[in-house]
Amino acid sequence: MPEAVDPVCGMKVDTAKARYKHVYKGKIYYFCSEHCLKAFKENPDYYLEHGPVGMPHEH
Ligand SMILES: [Zn+2]
Repeated sequence: MPEAVDPVCGMKVDTAKARYKHVYKGKIYYFCSEHCLKAFKENPDYYLEHGPVGMPHEH
């Protein structure tokens, strides 16, 4: 199954079923939840630079 890693929390996301995605600088990023999508949109460079921070949140 096609997988991507959520750049915010590090979770694996099934890209075929992903409901939350966002294009940034020509690349598609997938997210496990709206929470992560929102966090990424607010500060994309932070997450791309530091990688997933594994902050606790609900799924
Ligand atoms: Zn996530």
